[in-house]
Amino acid sequence: MKGRFMTPEKLRDPTTKYPKPPFKGQEQPWPGLASKMEPRPDHGEKSYKGSGRLMGRKALITGGDSGMGRAAAIAYAREGADVAINYFPTEEPDAQEVIELINAEGRKAIALPGDLRDQEFCKQLVADAVQALGGLDILVSNAARQQTRASILDVSAEDFDATMKTNIYAPFWVIKAALPHLQPGSVIIGTTSEQATDPSAELYDYAQTKAATTSFVKSLAKQLASKGIRVNGVAPGPIWTALQVSGGATQEKLKQFGGQTPMGRPGQPAELASIYVQLAASDASYATGQVYGAAGGSGQP
Ligand code: NAD
Ligand code: MG
Repeated sequence: MKGRFMTPEKLRDPTTKYPKPPFKGQEQPWPGLASKMEPRPDHGEKSYKGSGRLMGRKALITGGDSGMGRAAAIAYAREGADVAINYFPTEEPDAQEVIELINAEGRKAIALPGDLRDQEFCKQLVADAVQALGGLDILVSNAARQQTRASILDVSAEDFDATMKTNIYAPFWVIKAALPHLQPGSVIIGTTSEQATDPSAELYDYAQTKAATTSFVKSLAKQLASKGIRVNGVAPGPIWTALQVSGGATQEKLKQFGGQTPMGRPGQPAELASIYVQLAASDASYATGQVYGAAGGSGQP
């Protein structure tokens, strides 16, 4: 052990570590940019320290430009993995920040913009990632659409379709395309939510897709265990991300965001990074079909 690992960590009180409500009201057009949020979310840019847990691994992360996907991308690169990120084309500014951070670790960084609601794109995305990375052994299916609607009567057929396409069809298409490339020891990680088991009134369409995500994680885990491929989920509580300021929450909810949790504040994407690392790492070899949560004291995974 040498260098930074010898410096004692100062204990940090989790209740005061990050901003608490009230927050400033703010709205961005979908899908929003983390770089325009106030305060800016912490994805571990300055804080995440790697220790070689994923050396030589090859990861594809959907929604890798911001939020949980970005926190995972930064952590994976610092743990020694090459990383491809997918994002919606209008998120290029956020994506470029992530590409620079991965490159700064001396790892391969692959930017693969495109719309996951398109089946052909999903297939091409996996093919491009496999080619650019020279294989694939970590797939993080993390992208999602969340748009708040007070009533089911306000959920249009187009809304419903877009949510299902993004949150249920895209993972199906991406996982199907990736599976032939995954060798024993590979992992699939889905980002689910506390919404899977404790759905909010105003997230009728979104919440049911998260129940579907938890379900596919458990189903695929059983299906793929004998092939040596592990499948697990991460269940965040309220996390300060672009999804919330681009239609995911009402302004009233946003101003008090996370205040109802026992921790009294929302989580930051950086606080989930180590979960994505843990589930991908080979020493977690007995964990499959699991859902690990981080919800500030409320919410069941
Ligand atoms: P985020 O907006 O930072 O990330 C979501 C990403 O999804 C976007 O960056 C975008 O790149 C991608 N995306 C959405 N639609 C797309 C499309 N059609 N084509 C390509 N990419 C598309 O927000 P986040 O909160 O980090 O979301 C990541 C995951 O976390 C999601 O699965 C979300 O359901 C889950 N989650 C979030 C919270 C929260 O409070 N923020 C809570 C529980 C679960
Ligand atoms: Mg984004």
